Amino acid sequence: MTTKTIFEQIIDGEIPTSKIYEDDKVIVINDIAPQAPVHYLIIPKKHFPNIQEINEADLGIIAHVYRIAQIIASEQNIHDYRIIVNNGKKAGQTVFHVHFHFLAGSFFEKLIP
Ligand code: AMP
Repeated sequence: MTTKTIFEQIIDGEIPTSKIYEDDKVIVINDIAPQAPVHYLIIPKKHFPNIQEINEADLGIIAHVYRIAQIIASEQNIHDYRIIVNNGKKAGQTVFHVHFHFLAGSFFEKLIP
């Protein structure tokens, strides 16, 4: 028996979420514990535990993630934003299904180490 991550459960519609956007490759949701006024998670639907595990043939998903970030930023008139990936436990990753934090707003200084 495999245990699904919380994001796989969201992708599979097993638990409710606040969805911003969805297509066949990604889902974009509001982070449940926002670290900035705008804090979305852009989550590829295909399961990879982390960036290191993405096969070369699947790296196009990263370009798609950035394309969706462009579109969301344009639609919401957001000009300044951060895209962050925590890769690995010691880097702060807590959900082991690749995801990209999209952060915007006025609290950036709190995120700078
Ligand atoms: P990371 O620490 O980079 O793995 O990021 C995981 C993120 O998922 C954190 O920012 C959490 O607040 C967020 N998170 C965890 N559970 C949920 C959920 N059910 N819905 C939305 N965001 C979540």
